[in-house]
Amino acid sequence: MFIKKKPTSVEQATSKKDDIKASDMVECEVCGVYIEVSESILSNAKYYCSKECIEKVS
Ligand SMILES: [Zn+2]
Repeated sequence: MFIKKKPTSVEQATSKKDDIKASDMVECEVCGVYIEVSESILSNAKYYCSKECIEKVS
């Protein structure tokens, strides 16, 4: 009696930790606002909501 598992192609796509998708929300390092990864600015491995925020830390 084996329980057959469903194909795990969907699980594989989401099982990677740290693998951020474009639709994920990330927190701006400076102001704490949440933005979509695709709309955020990545600088020094951190996410920012705008150039203004990057300039505040640099
Ligand atoms: Zn910000």
